[in-house]
Amino acid sequence: MARPRTKPALCASGRHRPDIHRTCDDDGVTRTHCLDCRCQLVRTLASRAWYRSGMFF
Ligand SMILES: [Zn+2]
Repeated sequence: MARPRTKPALCASGRHRPDIHRTCDDDGVTRTHCLDCRCQLVRTLASRAWYRSGMFF
């Protein structure tokens, strides 16, 4: 099964698939990227949910 080249629907709706390889800051912020669209994702201890980061680190 070939994967679609277009942006996956889940990503378009803001539901990304975080990579299992993650980095954690001293601040408790975990960073990774989406497996599908390769965007950067961040998660804080407070939110416990992944958010797409609009900033480049
Ligand atoms: Zn994505």
